[in-house]
Amino acid sequence: MDSETIAPFATKRTTPLAATMTARAIDAVKFYTDAGDEPVHALDGVSLEIRAGEMVALVGPSGCGKSTLLNLIGCVDLPTRGTIEVDGRATSSLDDDALTGLRRERIGTVFQFFNLLPAMTIAENVGLPLVLQRVPRGEIDARVRAALESVGIYEKANAYPSQVSGGQMQRAAIARATIHKPAIVLADEPTGNLDSTSGANVLRLLRDVASNGQAILMATHSMDAAAVCDRVIRMQDGKIVA
Ligand code: ADP
Repeated sequence: MDSETIAPFATKRTTPLAATMTARAIDAVKFYTDAGDEPVHALDGVSLEIRAGEMVALVGPSGCGKSTLLNLIGCVDLPTRGTIEVDGRATSSLDDDALTGLRRERIGTVFQFFNLLPAMTIAENVGLPLVLQRVPRGEIDARVRAALESVGIYEKANAYPSQVSGGQMQRAAIARATIHKPAIVLADEPTGNLDSTSGANVLRLLRDVASNGQAILMATHSMDAAAVCDRVIRMQDGKIVA
């Protein structure tokens, strides 16, 4: 069990959004053809825009296409048709190296089950995006310290993921997802494996990230999580319905 205390709850944005477009889908279609004879229409003509500093919830029943959309914006996969733009660049027009660069530098991801590497300490996990960007060691150490302090777990820097609570693992995952100052943070059910107190604290941290000007797109089944977002996008059968 998690022993976190309740932090003051995050409030929604009250200042006007910056005009900067961070991610955009234009009539994006994704078919999967690997599962059998009939293609699966995971995304069926999705268009949306997400701006800097905006926190957006993506809701809908299992199988409606939320993870597929996160994977396309996260540059893990490319649309079958249509356009996905991240930070002003159309992902389908990029070669593998450029796509990897865009993913490493401009995107951060938070998962339901944290996805921390078990053989690395919390500090090493959080510093990984900077190692991949070949940032000098001294700068990594300073930025990891600041990132861990900002999510309130600096005292766990040298612990391994198995030695901390679920809430603390997700705080570390948020630090890892934001340490390289990405344009957008993609979160897939970030509170789905947490008790309500830890979940509320994770939402507060994500709101803090958005108030620093980064965009957040969060797939969630949680009404509490959707309620703290600036906007809720509803999906059904691969389409946006509201
Ligand atoms: P959600 O995240 O809303 O649960 P998904 O994006 O995971 O939805 O899935 C959308 C649809 O695409 C579902 O019908 C799912 O079974 C299918 N799907 C997802 N990934 C694959 C894949 N790699 N191969 C075949 N079908 C897939």
